[in-house]
Amino acid sequence: MKPYKNKINRIRSFALALIFIGFVIMYLGIFFRSNQLVMLIFMLLGVVAIIASTAVYAWIGLLSTKAVQVVCPNCGKYTKVLGRVDMCMYCREPLTLDPNLEGKEFDEDYNRKASMEKK
Ligand SMILES: [Zn+2]
Repeated sequence: MKPYKNKINRIRSFALALIFIGFVIMYLGIFFRSNQLVMLIFMLLGVVAIIASTAVYAWIGLLSTKAVQVVCPNCGKYTKVLGRVDMCMYCREPLTLDPNLEGKEFDEDYNRKASMEKK
């Protein structure tokens, strides 16, 4: 079984990773002190990664307002569902907003298929 995660949580960890990547790139730039141009490029890349992560955080905020808040039937906590199928943020219980998919095995492809049909 694939390691599924709640989408909002997954994007959030991606944004967090971007910040770390940005700092690592900037840190690497220090090793090229002798070459100012290379150091500058590293610094710029690091700043870009951090700006990108800020943008991703803003995107999460936007997605959160679109996500549907539901009470997880398994753990009873409030969680947010994005798309047709998603997972509980706390216990990874598969959740769906589409009654046709209820009881079916959790498959993230339902989201992809739904988006493909629209095109
Ligand atoms: Zn839950």
